[in-house]
This record gives sequence, C-alpha cells and structure tokens, in this order.
Amino acid sequence: MLKFIGTGSAFNTELGNTSAYIKEDKTLLLIDAGATAFARAKEIGLFDEIEHVYVIITHMHTDHVGSLGNVIEYCNIFKSVTPNLILTNDETAETQENNLREYLAKVGITEDDYEFTYADMMEEVFKGLIKIELKQVTHSKKLTSYAVELYFEDKVVYYTGDQNDHAYLKKVAKKLKQNDIVYTDCTARDYKGRIHVSLDELEQIFDQKQKDQITCMHFDSFASYSEAKSRGFKVASREVSKEELLKQIANRR
Ligand SMILES: [Zn+2]
Ligand SMILES: [Zn+2]
Repeated sequence: MLKFIGTGSAFNTELGNTSAYIKEDKTLLLIDAGATAFARAKEIGLFDEIEHVYVIITHMHTDHVGSLGNVIEYCNIFKSVTPNLILTNDETAETQENNLREYLAKVGITEDDYEFTYADMMEEVFKGLIKIELKQVTHSKKLTSYAVELYFEDKVVYYTGDQNDHAYLKKVAKKLKQNDIVYTDCTARDYKGRIHVSLDELEQIFDQKQKDQITCMHFDSFASYSEAKSRGFKVASREVSKEELLKQIANRR
C-alpha cells in the first residue's frame, strides 16, 4: 500500500530516515520528510510529473522534518507546485501549525511557499480515500507526535509514526479488520525511557493471526530489522532508483 523512501531511524543512515508515500497520477502524499528524505526522494524520481503535493509531518524530530524545507523549495522552484501541509483536526492543530510555521520561517521558507490543509478536508485527493485522521501518540515528552490513519473505502491504513503508546496500539489491534494494514515503528533494544515500541510488546498487543497485517519500519539497527522479520512481521523496504538497482545487480555477479 505505502511505499518507502527510507525505513531507518534517525541514525540509521544506511536505510535512511523513515518516510512513506503514495503517488498516484500527479498527486503525491508524503508522510514525513526527515533529514535524508529529500535527496532519496529525488533519486527515485518522486517529484517527476508532480502537480499536487500533500505532506504530513508526524512530529518535529529531525529524522521526520529535517528536509521539509528542501521539499517545499524544490516543489516551488522546479515544479511550480505549492505543497499542502496537513494538520490534525483536534485541539492541537493551532500548536502544530505554529510549530511548522516557526520552524520553516527559521530555515527561510515563508508562508507564501506552502499551504495548510486540515486532515478531514482530504476527500478525493486519492481515489477511494475518504479521510485522514492524525491521532496523538506518546513518544518523546518534549514534543507532540501523531499517528496517521488513512481511511479508504475498503480499508484503513494505520501508520504509527514514532511512538511507544500501548493504549493506541491496543485500540488499533481491537478494531483491526481483515483488509486493514498497520505500519509501526519498532525496536529490538530495551533502554531506560524507551520512546519506541519493542517487538516483544508488539507481539503481546497484536494476535498471532494479525501479524501479516503488520509491517515494521523505523529500524534502529540490522538486529531490529532481522528480529522483526524472524518473528513473522512484515518489514518495510525502501524504493530504489534504477541506477541503484543496476549497481546492486552488478555487485551480485
Ligand atoms: Zn524517528
Ligand atoms: Zn521521533
């Protein structure tokens, strides 16, 4: 369903910062634009032929917002497109808007360069997409984080962003229908003040039979990636450019 520009955590530069997208015809919906995202998105031609760009920023950590300025400027200058930043419909919308505006102003992006759109005004952006909801989840105490819920006619796509929010995940597990898909951050590590859900916790929260509906992402290490895979979760993999694919094939020979 979703495609990925990167599937790593902040410091996992090999996999790149986790960022997902849907591109249909000339419309792009981008979830997060971390420090490594713009360069990788450009490499895979994500902005080619684009006329409408919608961006959801789950939270203000650098690995989720670090190249938003580049995305906006590139769309403006090279594509004559004004990106839409999607805001939650809950009471934190104003703070979310102010945070994004202030951050962008500090990196030289003015309000003429982008627009704000509320998540419930996304009808008909993509075929079959009824609405988007951004739900607050617990992650870092220092900032507000959102999970993204994409309501299609035939399924709901849950994208947790960064979180260690068992109450939220339990709610998702309870209402998960057969066609629904969950993308969740994860870690195989345990440490004090952990801000990501662990694979052990994911296994406790979701039923064994729900596992093939769950795709893990935001890997902090190869250990987290391989552990998620060996436990039977799906794992996100990033799109590669044609050049990179050819290089990989050549190296295999
Ligand atoms: Zn992150
Ligand atoms: Zn984070």
